[in-house]
Formats: sequence, C-alpha cells, structure tokens
Amino acid sequence: MKKQPISPWFPWLDDYYYKIINQFKKKKNYKAYIFCALNDLGISSLIYALTKWIFCINKQKIYSCSICTNCILLQKNIHPDLYIIKNNTKENFTNVDYIRNLIDKIYQTSYKDVSKIIWFANFKQLNLFSKNVLLKTLEEPPKNTFFFLQCNNKDEILPTIYSRCQFWNINSPNEKIGLLWLKENFKNYKILKIKSIQSALRICNYIPINALQLLNNNIWKNRSIFYNILLSSFKKNIMNLLSILDNNNILFYLDWIYFILLDVIKLHLKIDFKFFYNLDQISIIYELFNIIFLKKIILMIKKIFFYKKILIKINKINHKLVIINLLLSLEEIYQS
Ligand SMILES: [Zn+2]
Repeated sequence: MKKQPISPWFPWLDDYYYKIINQFKKKKNYKAYIFCALNDLGISSLIYALTKWIFCINKQKIYSCSICTNCILLQKNIHPDLYIIKNNTKENFTNVDYIRNLIDKIYQTSYKDVSKIIWFANFKQLNLFSKNVLLKTLEEPPKNTFFFLQCNNKDEILPTIYSRCQFWNINSPNEKIGLLWLKENFKNYKILKIKSIQSALRICNYIPINALQLLNNNIWKNRSIFYNILLSSFKKNIMNLLSILDNNNILFYLDWIYFILLDVIKLHLKIDFKFFYNLDQISIIYELFNIIFLKKIILMIKKIFFYKKILIKINKINHKLVIINLLLSLEEIYQS
C-alpha cells in the first residue's frame, strides 16, 4: 500500500488489503471479518487501514484520502463510530453489560453518518456471555455496521460466530519479502552477514517483525558464543550450560538448542544446507553431528519440549531446578 501510507505498514498485508477493499468496492463484502495470526504480523495495521477506507468520505479508489474529517478523526484516534473492544486497566471492556450497551448504541444512527465499526482487538478476552451477545447481533446485524474480530487461533471463535464471518488467516510472508523488509528496517543490515539475517528470520518462523526484534537484541550478538559453549559443554560436561541458561532468556535459548539440533538431524539425513535454520553455524552443526547420534538427538528434543512446557505453563516454578532437571536428562541421553 503506497498512496497514503498507514504507519506502520507491512508489505505482506498488501494482498489482504486489496482483496477486502475490492469486495467493498464490488459491494460483495461481508458484515464481519475474522483476522487470525499466531504471531505479530501487523493485523492491527490492516484493520486500521480498512477502517480508514470505510470511513473516508473522499476515497481515492482503493485508498483513503487522509485529509477528510473522518480520516483526521481516525488519525487522532477519536472517531466516534469506531469502537475498539480491548481490556485495559480502567474498564472491563469485555464485560457482558459493556458489550450489551455497545450493541444497543450501534443500533442508533452513526455520528458521522457513514458506518460503524466494532473492532474486537483480542477476541479471546470475551467471555461466553459476551460472545453470545455478539452472535445474536451477527444473526441480525445492524445497517452499515462492520465487525472486525482479531484472534491468534481459530479455536477461540465459536463455530456459530465463525460461520457468519469471512475468515482470513494471516500468514508469514515468504523469505524474499521478509528479507526485503528487514533490509529497509534493520539499520545494521549491511554490517551483518546475510546468512546471519536469514537465520534470524528462519528461527523466528519467517516473521519479520520478530526477526527484527531479535536482531536488535543483544543476545543475537552473543549467539555464536552461546553455540560454542553448547558444543564444549557436550564435549566436557553438559551441566556447564546451567550458568548460561539460568536467566530470563531461557525460552530463547531452549529454542536455539532445538533449532540447531534440528539442523544436526537434517545433516544426518543428508538434507541440502539451503533448508537449514542456522545457515551461519554450519561448522558447529558439523561438530555436533560428529558427537551425537541421530536417535539421541530425537530423545533430547523431546526432553527440551517437555521442560519448556513446564517453564511456560507453571508460573511460580523454580526455573533453576527445571533447568538442572533438563540438563541431567540430556546428559543421561548423551552418555547412554
Ligand atoms: Zn478521507
């Protein structure tokens, strides 16, 4: 989207934007849309851009004008016909009474005489009562009102609501688009080797926004040191990893061990290097390949998953103890 840029805008949203706006232009649009993405792919920017176009009273084909009263009200976050439903500390927006009052309000005319938009910014925050109120509304939707539902997982949406919406799964862009975006947005792009940037993108499941955060994080600078310590710990004593794992970055580090072990599996299976996650760590992958058998790696990965789940699911657990247990398990597998 180039004409009147929405900031921040992400190129992988272009197709979704064009397709939905064209539905509106052809009057083949839906009343309610669900946007689903597992991770941060900029869905809010997409919904914001669609809202702006719907409200704009001086549309420039598929673009909003950015200068009409409606565009300006929206840019200032004070458009009276946009209702964003999201919990904050002041008011429980997902409370059923709040939702009921809101629905009553939208049956009245819109303030700016264009449309009304109800944006559920985190659908899973709604309780069952609120979801049922929404369902009733979608069964007989008020005129000129559109609903945008934002979620991380399709299962968060009741099947009865789902069947009344158009569902859009927002996917990670391909690697080429991801790298192009990083080239424009990562200020050290030219300093780092391309293989390192590519590895960050792959480790982040091709989600450019997450890769950018990782590349800007200090732990990325120390990644090679981390892998060297991992290798030497396997050679000498796995418990040496305790000092490096016992901190707030533990989940990152467990993922990194998992990804490099996956690459070692790929090497065992003679899979082409171009499909590896850690394109910049081939020598470490070779060294690990030489000291750990395939069967043991698979067992180790299972243990890593098991203890990672414990760390994520149990809030008040002694992290250090969990890591010790994990390392003891890895050692047992390695020595067997
Ligand atoms: Zn406008």
